[in-house]
Amino acid sequence: MSSIKVLDKEFEPYISEEAIQNKISELAQQLNQEYAGKRPIFLSILNGSFLFTADLFRQITIEAEVCFIKLASYKGTTSSGNVITAIGLDANVSGRDIIIVEDIIDTGKTLHHFLPQLESSQPKSIKIAVLLNKKEALAYPVKIDYACFDIPNKFVVGYGLDYDGLGRNTRAIYQLK
Ligand code: 5GP
Ligand code: MG
Repeated sequence: MSSIKVLDKEFEPYISEEAIQNKISELAQQLNQEYAGKRPIFLSILNGSFLFTADLFRQITIEAEVCFIKLASYKGTTSSGNVITAIGLDANVSGRDIIIVEDIIDTGKTLHHFLPQLESSQPKSIKIAVLLNKKEALAYPVKIDYACFDIPNKFVVGYGLDYDGLGRNTRAIYQLK
């Protein structure tokens, strides 16, 4: 695999397509077992998670639903100063088992502010599945239940993840040089 250029920056190969797909298969098998008979809702956070969600969901063999949402943050009047709105959350999550599907967890800020809102709709359970977990960057108390890869605190692109809107359309993941 060779390096790629996205806008002004050079990225080098970091996680191969094969490694990604292997981890996703393992995760799918685990979820197929743990959620059999529960009809979970996969709640995919756009835009970055669209490829991960598609590859994961096509290997889910139990009854399951999928819902795509976008999280938009704006300055609110709460003590934290952050309000996150979920756009497109049309599924009725009350009493349901929810699996949040995220491309990458960095500080955990986005999910930390979104989770209370989701909890207020009283789902039966919420678990978080991420492709990439920047463990050392975590600054908010968010519990990650399933992580395909723990990665260092370095900027990555590809496989749905962007740099300034570009670089999402690759099968592998690349790291900033
Ligand atoms: P958090 O709220 O956990 O700090 O940030 C999560 C979001 O930041 C991700 O959904 C993603 O959009 C963005 N992000 C964090 N680290 C990276 C990275 O290394 N590469 C890319 N492309 N986006 C990242
Ligand atoms: Mg994301």
